[in-house]
Amino acid sequence: MIKFHPSQHMLKVFSAGDLPLSLSLAMSAHIELCPDCAAQAERFEALLSEDIWQEHDVENADFGDMLQAIMAKPLETQIKPTVPAKVMTHIAGKDYLLPTAFRQFKELKWSGFGAISRARVISDEQNVRASLLHIGKNGRIPEHHHKGYELTLLLSGCFSDETGTYHKGDFIWIDGDKSHSPYTEEGCLCYAVQDAPLHFVRGMSKVLNPLGNLIY
Ligand SMILES: [Zn+2]
Repeated sequence: MIKFHPSQHMLKVFSAGDLPLSLSLAMSAHIELCPDCAAQAERFEALLSEDIWQEHDVENADFGDMLQAIMAKPLETQIKPTVPAKVMTHIAGKDYLLPTAFRQFKELKWSGFGAISRARVISDEQNVRASLLHIGKNGRIPEHHHKGYELTLLLSGCFSDETGTYHKGDFIWIDGDKSHSPYTEEGCLCYAVQDAPLHFVRGMSKVLNPLGNLIY
């Protein structure tokens, strides 16, 4: 059961099509797994299109203008769940079914360091890096924090950190200085978005830097 969801504000911005691709992907994938957020996003979208109609004088409507106003709403950054199509990826000896939002990334290239593997998805949104991350059985990411934010959407398996245990579909947003050390017993697959490098709290940088570079 999903316990962690995006904020109302984020759902509204997503419904207006105003999120960057990195976060829009996370929202689309979460909505595919979460009927509650799917219903809310639909409601926001309906309200938004009502607003567009009310902005125009329907009595003297020029439908060309109205259509133009609707088309002018920024939708290009928003990926909506459409007809489900299977998107698989193979990592650590296992096939994973990905949410349909990821089907635009046909050739995922995995790189690994220890128990952790990463397939880069987005790296051209200023400082933002978005990747699929796989952590193998009994894998741990050493304790770290970020200067910016870290969003983790859990796609398969479960993991725990200092604040709790997370399950498939959980949308976990960590801001700023909170440090954590995710651990998974059975292995897990996540979609992760960060806007700053990882800072490891303790340990040798010689060992940890390659891991930090892999994840961010
Ligand atoms: Zn939700």
